Amino acid sequence: MSDKLAIYGGIPVVAEDEIKTWPPVDETDERYVLDALHAKVQSYGKHNLAFAEEFCAWNGNKFALLTNSGTAALHMCIAACGIGAGDHVLVTAYSWVSSATCILHHSAIPVFVDIDPETFLIDPAKIEAAITPRTKAIMVVQLHGLCADMDAIDAIAKRHGLYVIEDACQAHGATWRGRKAGTLGHCAAFSLNQFKCLCAGEGGTFVTDDEGLYNAAAKFWSFGETARPDQRRDHHAYALGWMYRNNELTAAFARSQLLKLDGNLATLRANADALRANLAPHPALKLPCEPAECHHTYYNFNIRLDFAALGMEERPAAEKARFRNAVCQALLAEGLPCQVWQYYILPAMTVFQAKNAFGGGYPWSIPGADEGVDYTPEQFPEALKYCDSHIAIVTALRAPNTADTARHLAAVVNKVMDHIHEIDPERIL
Ligand SMILES: *Cc1c(COP(=O)(O)O)cnc(C)c1O
Repeated sequence: MSDKLAIYGGIPVVAEDEIKTWPPVDETDERYVLDALHAKVQSYGKHNLAFAEEFCAWNGNKFALLTNSGTAALHMCIAACGIGAGDHVLVTAYSWVSSATCILHHSAIPVFVDIDPETFLIDPAKIEAAITPRTKAIMVVQLHGLCADMDAIDAIAKRHGLYVIEDACQAHGATWRGRKAGTLGHCAAFSLNQFKCLCAGEGGTFVTDDEGLYNAAAKFWSFGETARPDQRRDHHAYALGWMYRNNELTAAFARSQLLKLDGNLATLRANADALRANLAPHPALKLPCEPAECHHTYYNFNIRLDFAALGMEERPAAEKARFRNAVCQALLAEGLPCQVWQYYILPAMTVFQAKNAFGGGYPWSIPGADEGVDYTPEQFPEALKYCDSHIAIVTALRAPNTADTARHLAAVVNKVMDHIHEIDPERIL
């Protein structure tokens, strides 16, 4: 192995073609998708109905609806719970943006809560301080394939009469005390986009065990109609609805991928374990934690730099983030596909800072709706810290990549950490 960092002209640890792309596609996928392609019905049909049934069976839910995105399924959760204009919904300060914009989509107001510094998930100890008289629900994001502390969250929700909605878009197969993500609240949303552990190109899934929530969600899902997916439609809008359905081709692809989901999750977990086992301990390298109640799927395997160990603790945040960006480039140059997953915490994004959702300040302009809402980024110090220190390994540990590849990726991290004091953002960025 070359001792010189690849970013400075050394030989990369991992060959360019070693890492295989996600998701693996085989004859089963071809058979399912071709069946849908040649069917009479291309919109809502047998593959949609079958996917809903099969996903329910896989995850342990009573009801499911295939949607055209995870974001649509999240919006359906908000709408189904009866959350209305000007209501408040609590949500983590660090996530994908649609964990929070799905709340705005229904004219409700996201109220952010800082993260736990070890799990990077909503910090239950900070939830109650964020509750206002308008709070109706907690949007719990099961981020990176790890479930939040549901015991604590449930207790708070019960005490205050709040709905618990799970953003399980990254959490297929993640568990809390043996129970799967998507069964831990009143309703939940999964995504099927390119990067998710169940990938169908684009798409999502709404799930619940509550028939009332299912009926409400189905109404928003398809033009405000009340006919259930398996019933004859009357083409009557009983309420404001959206068009969040998906098509048969995608449903067929989702079904064939679902057949392989357990195997793919097992591969991902084995590869993540191999990566972890082969990482040399380094004072400036922090690894993801897995609380005893949880099974982590490692949807994202996130490493963090410890700036105190690097002697950089007192430096400005922007300088630390720049150093992290340079480390990320050095890892990429060695052949480890990795990225900064989020450069901004949610409240720092312009849509919240400018409150420019629908124009005219709406929905924050609803009388009283803005009370108790503070989007000052400094209110969320742990989320800010995490944002500036993490590097995410997103798909390199997934099937068809093997534990051998994961061991090579560990060698990449070890090499860059061994040379960490040579990392010079001025030279690299
Ligand atoms: C992917 C993702 C979404 C959105 O899913 P789409 O299918 O892309 O709309 C929402 N929340 C989280 C946490 C996600 O990772």
